Formats: sequence, structure tokens, C-alpha cells
Amino acid sequence: MDDCIFCKIARGEIPCKKVYEDDDLIAFHDIHPISKVHILLVPKLHIESLFECTSQYQELLGRLLLMAPRLALEQGLTKGFRTMINTGKGGGQEVFHLHVHVFGGAAILEKT
Ligand code: AMP
Ligand code: ZN
Repeated sequence: MDDCIFCKIARGEIPCKKVYEDDDLIAFHDIHPISKVHILLVPKLHIESLFECTSQYQELLGRLLLMAPRLALEQGLTKGFRTMINTGKGGGQEVFHLHVHVFGGAAILEKT
């Protein structure tokens, strides 16, 4: 998608603080972190949200979720972390390219 911000990040057209990349996924620091560690885990394929996911994306979704604990541990979240997938305007989604928030650390613990 030409004007999708996460597609642009995945294509390297917009800079990001990247923490992981492979052929299918990219992960980078959220530009407005709400906790000490706040990573966005994004499939490179433009899928708008979970609403658009069909069984053809089953493997990709599995890879996405399996990457979350790996990234969390690499970021030092050894005691645990939180994941969030906002779906649709009613779910608070602002960027309409599927992504998983992976976050944790001091600030998020204070909120719970
Ligand atoms: P959501 O509400 O789930 O769609 O969240 C979108 C997230 O993307 C927000 O937490 C934003 O801070 C984050 N975000 C938007 N633009 C960028 C960017 N260029 N680099 C990193 N994170 C971004
Ligand atoms: Zn996109």
C-alpha cells in the first residue's frame, strides 16, 4: 500500500528504531511509548486488521505471536510482558496495518 506508514517502514522508506527483521516480519520501537519497553511487531504484508484475516494467514499469525516472547526477552522483559492488538476504530486502532504491541516495564506495571 503506497501511503500506509507501516508499509513504508517495512520498505525502509521511513526510519524506525528496528529491533528485528526477517522476510515476513519487522519489529521496531513505538514512536510514542506507553511503557519502558514498547515494541510494534508488524507483518510486512499489508493486512488492515484482524478483521481482514482469513485462514490463509494462519501461519503468518502464528509466526507473529511466537515472535512476541522472543522480542520481549531480548528487551529485558524477563518477568513478563503485555500484548495488544487493536482492531478497527471501535478497538482503538489508529494505523490500519495489522500490528501487535509488545510492552512492559515500569510504567505498564504501575497501570495495573
Ligand atoms: P494502534 O492504535 O494500535 O493503531 O497503534 C498505532 C501505534 O503506532 C501507536 O502506538 C503509535 O504511537 C505508533 N506509531 C505511529 N507512527 C509510528 C512510527 N512512524 N513509528 C513508530 N511507531 C509509530
Ligand atoms: Zn501497510
